[in-house]
Amino acid sequence: MSNSLPLIIDPWLLYRHNDALVGTLLLSQMPNLKSVQNKEQSTANVRVAVKQREDGHTVIIGKAEIELELECQRCLQPLIEVIEAKFELVLVKYEQQLSSVSDGDDAIVCEDNLELVPLIEQELILSLPMIAKHSNCQAMYENAEDDADRQHPFANLKDLLN
Ligand SMILES: [Zn+2]
Repeated sequence: MSNSLPLIIDPWLLYRHNDALVGTLLLSQMPNLKSVQNKEQSTANVRVAVKQREDGHTVIIGKAEIELELECQRCLQPLIEVIEAKFELVLVKYEQQLSSVSDGDDAIVCEDNLELVPLIEQELILSLPMIAKHSNCQAMYENAEDDADRQHPFANLKDLLN
């Protein structure tokens, strides 16, 4: 069931066929994503479709999922997480059409061939958590020092006042 995604697509053809592309991308095909985490091998499941939105714009709608190994920023232990990217990009054929795209939309200019891998890679990178941490992290704060230590600064202060 896992067929690899084509590296280059013609989104307009996809649009005319009203078709969705479903396939896989290897982590090794996405070196920038690979370098920000610790997994050697993983596979992204990707779905891409091209549709006309209610406002008349043609949009590339996609979803990508991949399991990565991040590092928990609290306990510094491995954190296996499925990263999910969902995106919707306005598709225009020529650069001068960009002026018709509202600020809230991300747009992509593509006359015919679109390189899919960098697009998916970028969307996955944008979906990484700002700070990775276990939802139920077992790390304890190191605040269990004994009372004598904690009172030490005050003891010193008392000496100074005397
Ligand atoms: Zn943790």
